[in-house]
Amino acid sequence: MAPAAVPVISTSELTVSAIKQDLSKAAVKPQLDASKLTYTFNKSPNTVPALNDPIRLEQNSTTDHMLTVKWTEKGGWEAPQLRPYGPLDLMPTASCIHYATQAFEGMKGYRGVDGKLRLFRPDLNSKRMTLSSTRIALPSFPPEELEELIKAFVAVDCAKWLPDPNTFIYIRPAIIASGAALGVQKPREATLFIIAVLFPPMDSPNGLRLLASKEDMGTRAWPGGHGWSKVGANYGPTLQAQGEARERGFDQILWLLGKEGRVTEAGASNFFIVWKHKYTGRLQLVTAPLGDKIILDGVTRRSVLELSRARLTHQPSEIRREVQHLEKVEVVEEDFTIHDLVEAHAEGRLVEAFACGTAFFVAPIAYIQYVDEGIDVPMTAATEDGGKAGPYASAIKTWLKEIMYGRVQHPWGVVVEERGAK
Ligand code: PLP
Repeated sequence: MAPAAVPVISTSELTVSAIKQDLSKAAVKPQLDASKLTYTFNKSPNTVPALNDPIRLEQNSTTDHMLTVKWTEKGGWEAPQLRPYGPLDLMPTASCIHYATQAFEGMKGYRGVDGKLRLFRPDLNSKRMTLSSTRIALPSFPPEELEELIKAFVAVDCAKWLPDPNTFIYIRPAIIASGAALGVQKPREATLFIIAVLFPPMDSPNGLRLLASKEDMGTRAWPGGHGWSKVGANYGPTLQAQGEARERGFDQILWLLGKEGRVTEAGASNFFIVWKHKYTGRLQLVTAPLGDKIILDGVTRRSVLELSRARLTHQPSEIRREVQHLEKVEVVEEDFTIHDLVEAHAEGRLVEAFACGTAFFVAPIAYIQYVDEGIDVPMTAATEDGGKAGPYASAIKTWLKEIMYGRVQHPWGVVVEERGAK
């Protein structure tokens, strides 16, 4: 059966206008230009740890190279350099060390079943990084140039570091205010860099256990704040709570907002539930909205919404055979609270919950603890990896994997032509 067409949604108006505004200011200076990339290959390359080597769990094993580009307020963007992985040049007075003048992205390279290297929707990561960069007073750049640089970087390192079909590598583009600037001021120098790191799969076949945040754990993001951007300043202040959660046997914090306990995100991932609506009784796939800019506009979140709207909102059996056992759902971006969730569970209306993001992929939720209340979330479907999940998460995960690993050809799975490092 032919896959249903998935509408490709471009970034929001707000996103586009913010990028344009900042780019027009920088138009006179040399812009970020991927065609100026120079290559210096690593003469002492490392060996690649085996797939089952526990060193991968440390999430610190990097590939042989990194890509760096310098920017100065006076001179604009210099030529990007691909060079051996190693320390960055930073003075102790560098702004990023003191004032969190830093933004980053997280994405993956996937080795397909056909041996090809793919990125998943790299245009979205590149646009989001431009937005995050400008949010923290760092320079803007044409997102398509960053996308080209990411491709050029993985094209060199992945032949060696990502040889096995059905595996992935984590890619971290970042930008930091690298100039000496202890005075509190807008950065005049920056360094953009790209590295790749070996990561273990984190999508937890047995389901994640979440601890809902309490007021004494702090607030991750708030209306008028910067939760929507991927800046380091959003993450550091959450780590104490995350550490407490881990010590108590939980995987992630489910971040609640305000006295009413709005459900926002789960750790570094977006959060979805499937429930029967309290009043209409209709089945809904629900996630928090982007409108008030509290949560991150996750690439996985978008993709889950777009795939679900295309494939699950009609009677699924009319479209795809593999989901004919599923009832159609309404796909909704709307606020809900932890109390709504507790109530839905108590009334037997909660069908499933899952977290989704680049690192966690589509991770079913098994349990949520909210103060003294424990929610055992149903996980009724068997997954490809021998685990369990809710039936909707299971179908969505399979569809995304098909695109990422090239089991189906789809515009979201962007093939990168590789070159070996000399
Ligand atoms: N929410 C937060 C706070 C995150 O850090 C991430 C991860 O990047 C996500 C959601 C998921 O976003 P994406 O799907 O783009 O990885």
